[in-house]
Amino acid sequence: MILGQEPILLTPGPLTTSPATRQAMLRDWGSWDAQFNRITASLCRDLVDIVHGGDDYVCVPLQGSGTFSVEAAIGTLTPRNARILVPDNGAYCQRILKICRYLGRDAVALPIPEDQAASAAAIDEALSRDPSITHVAQVHLETGAGVLNPLADIARVCQKHGKGLIVDAMSSFGAVEIDVRSMPFDALIAASGKCLEGVPGMGFVIAKKTVLEASGGNSHSLAMDLHDQYTYMQKTTQWRFTPPTHVVAALRAAVDQFLAEGGQPVRGGRYQRNCRALVDGMASLGFRPFLDAEVQAPVIVTFHAPTDSKYDFKAFYAAVRERGYILYPGKLTQIETFRVGCIGAIDDNEMRNVVTAISQSLASLGIRRVAPLTRAA
Ligand SMILES: *Cc1c(COP(=O)(O)O)cnc(C)c1O
Repeated sequence: MILGQEPILLTPGPLTTSPATRQAMLRDWGSWDAQFNRITASLCRDLVDIVHGGDDYVCVPLQGSGTFSVEAAIGTLTPRNARILVPDNGAYCQRILKICRYLGRDAVALPIPEDQAASAAAIDEALSRDPSITHVAQVHLETGAGVLNPLADIARVCQKHGKGLIVDAMSSFGAVEIDVRSMPFDALIAASGKCLEGVPGMGFVIAKKTVLEASGGNSHSLAMDLHDQYTYMQKTTQWRFTPPTHVVAALRAAVDQFLAEGGQPVRGGRYQRNCRALVDGMASLGFRPFLDAEVQAPVIVTFHAPTDSKYDFKAFYAAVRERGYILYPGKLTQIETFRVGCIGAIDDNEMRNVVTAISQSLASLGIRRVAPLTRAA
């Protein structure tokens, strides 16, 4: 890191943004301004296009962090007597279960070990066993450990059973392929500050038009009512309530760069290279990823913490930060881990520098033992 420069964020949102994205925030916009409202409209069209939603899907943006949009989607797009199956392999799945409890939606958890992907076969079985289930709420990429769940297979199972599917694609949107033509869903939720590389502050819900149009009166909350937000926006071109203007302008710039880069396949490819450089470099220091390669998404990698008694996450974090990088704590309940994000306006060279910073940090803290003493071959 050059002295005085800001550290690189290796957290899965907020993340490191490009100068052009930050530059876009240097202007103040009025919420009534037609030019600003054209930005919102163009963004919504582009976001629908990213999943090939055509005319059957619309995008409803919402103020707030990603969770606000997840809560709004469940509250608006499922009726109050819905019964929602939640395949659970981590913290963000558990957040959906918590949202269901707050909203008074009946939820059924389908527990899955946090190092494994959700299984379409298990969901198929759960739906056959309990026909009273009306919806499935599926996290696409469980950011807790970094597992990618098989969305296409799960969507097909939901379609076969005639169940609604709501997808939390917060940390996959833009990086992992999502195509509604082969992965039909009722709604999909993502946000500005993840793989699109905008700044945090707004989420958006890409919803099937027919489902959204039939959802009036479901929402428990005025501010979280996506039906009302959509209806008002259709009528006036404006956001209901004060829009996060700078965030919208930054996301417009970020999506322009995303499209210029080559869209999802190219963005996903860059993250793949970041992930590989990270995992290979960390392996040379003795670190093992928590996940098997088959379920590891190229967005965030969970590593086993060093087994050395001198290891302490806070001190390790501080030492790495001093060298220019912000790590992320682990989010697993049973074992000590830490996480490193591969996303943001960074490339694989940066990831190799991260590994060097980690190596130097270990040395400065006197941490010698990284892997367990005895290891099955
Ligand atoms: C980031 C994220 C969210 C939203 O978290 P916020 O802190 O509210 O932005 C939801 N689900 C997943 C899978 C995420 O990665």
